[in-house]
Amino acid sequence: MSEERTPETARFSPERLSSLERIYHYLDGELDASELGEIEHHLATCPECQSEYAIEAMLKQLVRRSCQSDEAPDGLRERIRARIVVEQRTIIARWNG
Ligand SMILES: [Zn+2]
Repeated sequence: MSEERTPETARFSPERLSSLERIYHYLDGELDASELGEIEHHLATCPECQSEYAIEAMLKQLVRRSCQSDEAPDGLRERIRARIVVEQRTIIARWNG
């Protein structure tokens, strides 16, 4: 096995991964009406996906603001995302502490 960097998503179960994928498509406005209904219902009932959605929505906004487009340069998206995840954990830790 090489020391290749595994994508962050590799940590998630296939089920979780498909929810995440739908969230990305949802944010990109790529879902049809029935898929939209499904993901909205799922978001309403799944706190994990809600927080994932919040992170992705924030990330999308930041990328758009700093790059004036949806396309971030290589690596930027990952860096911002990692940063948001860390900050969100800090906030949650503060709530629970
Ligand atoms: Zn979920």
